Amino acid sequence: MADCLFCKIVAGEVPATVVRETDTTVAFRDINPQAPTHVLVIPKEHHQDAASLAAASPQLMADVLREAGEVAALEKIAVREGGPGTGYRVVFNTGTGAGQTVFHVHAHVLGGRGLEWPPG
Ligand code: 5GP
Ligand code: ZN
Repeated sequence: MADCLFCKIVAGEVPATVVRETDTTVAFRDINPQAPTHVLVIPKEHHQDAASLAAASPQLMADVLREAGEVAALEKIAVREGGPGTGYRVVFNTGTGAGQTVFHVHAHVLGGRGLEWPPG
């Protein structure tokens, strides 16, 4: 998509701090982190939100969710028996009323601090 910020990150036209990349996904640090770990996982293919992605391509949604787990492991926030993990949250803001500002689906992976529930 010509005017999509995250498509530009995929294309290397906008710089980002990439932490993981696969054939189908990119994971990069949020420019305005809300937690010690705040990484965005996106499919390389453009879809506007989580529901659209899940409907159009369940496999690609699974790729994004698997990568969210890989990022958590890399950042040492994953819950692993006997490990140092603290737990983390995966969030898809969907629609402007829920805070979505970039309309290329992205999973926020947040962790490294206590996370309140329910969220604000
Ligand atoms: P949303 O509000 O749509 O759920 O999340 C969009 C996220 O993208 C926000 O957390 C925002 O800080 C992040 N963001 C916006 N522009 C950029 C950018 O140019 N680079 C990076 N790395 N993150 C961005
Ligand atoms: Zn896009």
